Formats: sequence, C-alpha cells, structure tokens
Amino acid sequence: MSTVSRRALVSVSDKTGLEDFVKGLTELGFEILSTGGTRRFLQQAGIPVIDVTSYTGFPEIMDGRVKTLHPKVHGAILGRPTLPGDATAIEQHGIIPFQLVVVNLYPFQQTVARPDVTFDEAVENIDIGGPSMVRSAAKNHAHVAIVTQPQQYAEVLQQLRSGALDEAYRRRLAAAAFEMTATYDRAISDYLAKVVSDNSESSFGPRLTLSFRLQQTLRYGENPHQRAAFYVEDHPTPGTLATARQLNGKELSYNNLLDLDAARAAVLDFRQPAASVIKHNNPCGLAIAESLADAFHKAYEGDPVSAFGSIIGLNRVVDAATAEAMCAPGRFIEAVIAPGYDADALEILTTKPKWKANVRLMQVEFTDADRGAPDYRRVSGGLLVQDRDDLLQSDAGWQVVTKRAPSQAELADLKFAWAVCRHVKSNAIVFAKDGMLLGAGAGQMSRLDSSIIAAFKAGERSQGGVVASDAFFPFRDGIDAAAKAGIRSAIQPGGSKNDAEVIAACDQHGIAMMFTGMRHFRH
Ligand code: 5GP
Repeated sequence: MSTVSRRALVSVSDKTGLEDFVKGLTELGFEILSTGGTRRFLQQAGIPVIDVTSYTGFPEIMDGRVKTLHPKVHGAILGRPTLPGDATAIEQHGIIPFQLVVVNLYPFQQTVARPDVTFDEAVENIDIGGPSMVRSAAKNHAHVAIVTQPQQYAEVLQQLRSGALDEAYRRRLAAAAFEMTATYDRAISDYLAKVVSDNSESSFGPRLTLSFRLQQTLRYGENPHQRAAFYVEDHPTPGTLATARQLNGKELSYNNLLDLDAARAAVLDFRQPAASVIKHNNPCGLAIAESLADAFHKAYEGDPVSAFGSIIGLNRVVDAATAEAMCAPGRFIEAVIAPGYDADALEILTTKPKWKANVRLMQVEFTDADRGAPDYRRVSGGLLVQDRDDLLQSDAGWQVVTKRAPSQAELADLKFAWAVCRHVKSNAIVFAKDGMLLGAGAGQMSRLDSSIIAAFKAGERSQGGVVASDAFFPFRDGIDAAAKAGIRSAIQPGGSKNDAEVIAACDQHGIAMMFTGMRHFRH
C-alpha cells in the first residue's frame, strides 16, 4: 500500500483551469493518476502524475477507445472501503481507492454542432470510458467526490481546504454529474435519431425529443381554475411568439397568447398591408388594402360586434393612421401583434383610448423562418405531431371546373378567401369580397351550418362576393345556401364523390368554381 492518503483520477478533454486545480490538489496531498493526454498536459506543467496504465498494468488500446475501462479503475471508484467484502476485494486485487474523480467528456455536442462534421467523426466523439467513470463515482458519492466541470474547481478546492467536502456536498456533485451524463446521452440520441429520420421516408423519427424551458408563468389557463405557463423552445426561431416583446399593457393571458399566435399567422402570408381580428382563435375579421389603416378598418368592420375585445394582427409597422383607426369610438382591442409601432402610433395607443393602460402591444419580427416547423398537440397518453399547414400557397394547379370562369376581380377575391380559409376552424366557410372577410362559419359540425352562418354574418354585403370552403362540399346544399346569399364564385379542394352534383349546382346558379386540390382542415 502507498503512503499517500488521497488519490485523484483526472481524465479530461477540456483542460480549462486544470493546471491550477491539480496544483492545488497536489498541495493538499493528493496523488494524481491520469490518462495519456491529460498526463502529458500536467507533466508539461511540472506536476507529478502517474499514468493510469502503470496502475492497471494494461495499456491504452484501440486509439484510446479503451483507456480506463478496467476493474482496477472501476473497483477503485466503486469500492466502499468501509465494507468488509469490498475491503477484501480491494486488498486481494491491489486496488487503490480514489477519493476524487475529475472527468469531462469528449466534446460530442461541439463536434456535431460543426456544419462540416462527418458521421464517423461524430461517432468517434462518443465518450465511453468517461461517462462510465462519472457514473461510477456519482453512484459511490458516499466515498468519492465527482468533479465534471471546470467551473466547479475553485469551490471544490475551497471545500477540500476547509475540510468540508462532506457527504451533502458530494451528493450535490453527484446530482450535477448525472445531469451532465443525461444531457450528453440525450445529445447523442438526438443526433442519431436525426440521422435515422433524415435517411428514412417519414420525416419524423422513431423518437421525438422536445426540450422547452419556462418563459413565463401565467395567471391561469383557458379558465381560472386551470394552472398555466408559457414554455418556449431552447432556441426559438426569430418571428415566433416566443421572441415577441411586450411594449405596453396588462400581463398576457393564456388565451391572449393563443390568439396572438393566430393573429400573426393570419396576416403573415399577405404581401399587401393586412389586418386580422381574432376572437376565440378564429378570425372574425381579416382584410387587405392599399394602406394598413384601411386594412384594419375593413377587418374590424367585417364583424364589428364580434370584434369588440379582439386580438389584432398587423403585417406592417403600425402608423398613426392605423392607431387612430384602432381608437375610433366604440372600438375595444385587447391586444395587438405587429412587426413594430412608430412613435406616433405608440403615443396614440398608450394615451388615447379608454383601454390604453390594458392593451397588450406585442412586437415581433415578421419573418417566415419558422415556416414548415412541426406542430404538436397533446392527446391523452401521447403527442400528435404533424407538419404545420403553413406552406406558401401556389395557384399553379388550380382548375376552373364550371362553365363560367371567374372574372379577374373574382379571382383576386377567391385567392384572398382561400388564404383566409385555412385560418378558420373546420368546418370552415368563408364569404369575402373586395379583399375583406364578410362572414366566417367556423367550427361547425356540418358544412351546411357553416355556410348558413357565413351567409348570415355577411348579410346583404355578400352580393357578388365569393365563398371558400376548407374541404370539399359533400352536397349541393352548401352551394345553394351561398347562391341564395348572392355569391358569384366559389373555391374549394374538390375530390368529393358528389363533385358532379356540386358543379352542376354552380352551373345552375351561374357560379364560377375553382378546385385547388388541397384541403385545409383545422381541427
Ligand atoms: P486524455 O486526453 O487524457 O488521453 O483523454 C481524456 C478523455 O478520455 C476524457 O474526456 C475521458 O472522458 C476520456 N476517457 C477516459 N477513459 C476512456 C475510455 O476508456 N474510453 C474512452 N473512449 N474515453 C475515455
């Protein structure tokens, strides 16, 4: 047996702060054992080090894949010298217990973050012996202290100097160590899952790892008896709700966040100035115009009764004219999301209306960097994952299926109505005219009911307007309801067994109809 009372095993890839730390350890009477690279580094710094291979009597083999995976190493970490059985094994096999293990791992995360990384490089950077030692030492924290980060060095030295590296402190180190190995393994599994899914037909891999952090606790959920919080992705994409800044108003609620997200999405795709008016996650108003103020006015007037207390989405920096329009008498707005507010607009919105102190003004970059991101929805016992229905629309494959083709003005309205339709809950029927949503039938269990509601909402204004349906009309009744309301053109995916009957109904009413070939259910 050696006369040295304490031994530390040091095997690290990241050598930050190592020299001072190990000098400190030797001053405290530790004997240091190290693996090849670490030993050379410490010896160059003039610190006496024993190579772990001379202790095990077994060389490092296979390009360092096997360095410390040896019973004399793991026995020295896992052994409990106070237990008679362990003490006998220690004696019999010439094991010399370690009291301190200092390990950090091959830089797997940094390696796979490099854009030019090869698969073989990634695999070679999976550390095997390191995590094994970390886990052994953390398990045996009753006897061993495990140090896994350079940031811990100073405190560990201080604890050792004051003789206070006690069990409670070792337990804390063990918890940090297991957190580190868990994060490390998660990074490996994420990387491999991604490689597997990139190579398979389905875009979703066999396993999904989601990581979110708490951004904000919310007063309550959809209802006051529900607890709630807003968790965000670790690195949220610019332009997402997670990156929005609040410039004014009351604390955001759970429902505000949902509606703000819908408000932004509803106007994001329009090139012209556009405004959305959201209630209960559906647009009750949506419009495009030459100016943002006009778009807002048209959107609010689409359904002014429903618009009271709404959430507004605007796809341009808010100017004074738009702010004035929002403050017009009788209008009440809960929240706004826009790419910005000019100084005058901000002044108006925060001083003029009765609701100035409460209105939540949110600013977020309007980019589509997040387009195509996955969409998640919890169901009991699981999570449904899909591509978000937010790909840019193309009218390349649209077909006129009726005798009459839509006029240019009708075609413009059809495009608008189709773009609006996918932001409305199914069954969705949208009546529109002149770039303005006139009536939405949303979330009804029958398409006919949605048609009747949309017609009722639009009233007389739908004369000469267009109708969009998020999925095919299964029967002619929806078209008959639209015709009765004065609709002149229709747009829908098509694809029903009854298409012929529906087309015949359109021809009979003189309605021009287009098939898009794409459905936009929104459940
Ligand atoms: P060194 O630079 O001292 O040669 O190697 C230090 C690194 O090797 C540390 O990051 C440590 O986690 C890792 N390591 C220690 N033992 C083994 C082993 O048996 N196999 C593998 N693959 N890595 C090890």
